[in-house]
Amino acid sequence: MRCIIFSSMAFPIKVCVVCSEEFELKPDKPGFANRCPACSAPEQADPKTKQGMDADERKSLAEANEARRRAMRDLLYRKDS
Ligand SMILES: [Zn+2]
Repeated sequence: MRCIIFSSMAFPIKVCVVCSEEFELKPDKPGFANRCPACSAPEQADPKTKQGMDADERKSLAEANEARRRAMRDLLYRKDS
């Protein structure tokens, strides 16, 4: 018990620059030192990045479909002629 209390008081309390929540800056905390663990998570830190990835995925998917359509058209055209 004494160990838990000691360790919880051992880390400096920081204020997150993203959500202004106080958090313990632990040495093994991943991400930025001035962000709480929740805001350090890549998925929640920047939702715009995720949307951008989705748009890129959609774009590459559309390009793949377009390429497939063109290939099909070429095949049909060759058959016809
Ligand atoms: Zn935060």
